[in-house]
Amino acid sequence: MLKIYNTYSREKEEFKTDGDTVRIYTCGPTVYNYAHIGNLRAYIFMDILRKVLKYNGYKLLHVMNITDVGHMTSDADEGEDKILKASREKQIKPEEIADMYTEAFLKDIKKLNIEDPEYIIKATDHIKEMEEYVKDIVRNGYGYETSKGIYFDTDKLSTYGELSRVSLKDLKAGARIEIDDEKKSPLDFALWIKAPEEHIMKWNSKWGMCYPGWHIECSAMSKKYLGEEFDIHTGGVDHIQIHHENEIAQSRGATGKNPAKYWMHSEFLLIDGGKMSKSLGNVYTVDDIEEKGYYALAFRYLSFTSHYRNKLNFTWDAIESANNSLINMKKLYQEHLNANEKAYDLDKYREKFLDAINDDLNIPMAMAVVWEVLRNNKSKNYAKLLLEFDEVLSLNIDKINQIDKIEIPIEISDIIETRKIARENKNFILSDTLRDKLFDMGYKVLDTSEGQKLEKIQ
Ligand code: AMP
Ligand code: ZN
Repeated sequence: MLKIYNTYSREKEEFKTDGDTVRIYTCGPTVYNYAHIGNLRAYIFMDILRKVLKYNGYKLLHVMNITDVGHMTSDADEGEDKILKASREKQIKPEEIADMYTEAFLKDIKKLNIEDPEYIIKATDHIKEMEEYVKDIVRNGYGYETSKGIYFDTDKLSTYGELSRVSLKDLKAGARIEIDDEKKSPLDFALWIKAPEEHIMKWNSKWGMCYPGWHIECSAMSKKYLGEEFDIHTGGVDHIQIHHENEIAQSRGATGKNPAKYWMHSEFLLIDGGKMSKSLGNVYTVDDIEEKGYYALAFRYLSFTSHYRNKLNFTWDAIESANNSLINMKKLYQEHLNANEKAYDLDKYREKFLDAINDDLNIPMAMAVVWEVLRNNKSKNYAKLLLEFDEVLSLNIDKINQIDKIEIPIEISDIIETRKIARENKNFILSDTLRDKLFDMGYKVLDTSEGQKLEKIQ
């Protein structure tokens, strides 16, 4: 039985759905900069959720948005649009900023073996759907117009605060002194914003040239692809108080429903025990990890050392040790692969692994099972079992490290080039001699339909 922790109920609940397809919505990245490893921890969690559900036999219909408009420098719709700010600072058009960082994000997630959700969709492709959603909210009496835009009337919704479990009264007491005196309550948030003349990203709408507030995109897009009610909504813990609270409010306003049955949130990644920040110079990316000579997947491994609902501390020592464990794991797997078939307790390990992942995605516990199997007497059948576990873990346990071109020393790439020419000229004697030479130098070359592939012999 699969159990997951539901932030909404504050309980670990049995996962139940109608039919065999699980409908999921994940709040995706705001593409104004490169994703840092903290952001990527959130998407490794998303990926593990996908793979655990699949391992349990479910099919998935999963949507992740790309926020390319509307996310202000403060989550509570104040400040400047993050994309516009980056566009102004870098002197690049907003669409180009969004395209550039979306592409970088998709590359990063690929490197971390994070599977693409079935739909990856952009906010700016859904402006009409958002406007319609705002109209529904206004029609039902939950929105009002000011000179600045359309606002959600939080006083109208008695359940406001239901996810963060704070009452309207307490939320108000904690709210900052409001500068906008047209708003009925300081908690009211922007659904649709009237664009000043000089604002670049704006669309014609019922209320003139406008742009959307941040929260409305997720409500409108989840409804379009998943319906008014779906199974799981995921995000980071920082989304609970404002973004997801407001998403639920918008749905209650438009459809009267809480859109998701289960709300799941992943905890933060800390760096050297503290916050990542540009001013401290400690915002790292996957490229930074690779540039220091570690595998990108070492970060995936590191994220498995802590449960997704616990904070995880990143240090360079920790990534070094994760990298070593990953290499060790691959070596032990190879030893199993080359051994005979005698194995004990396969079902016991299978059950222990399943119990761990089904206990609210307890990957640290699942990894303990993996290590138990790795350290066992060597057997081909354990190798098979480990591959089965890797369907969830996606650590490429069976891959002897494929080497990127950039990492190949010059003397090796020279030999590869000579060998390529030899093969083109059908000089197989030279080609074989060079293959043996490479082997002696610690590299195994494979001839594939896409050309030569190199593996480092560990
Ligand atoms: P953003 O691109 O700012 O919208 O954030 C993308 C995702 O990264 C969200 O799910 C955030 O909750 C998550 N996130 C941001 N900072 C961190 C961090 N330091 N650790 C873990 N997740 C984070
Ligand atoms: Zn969202």
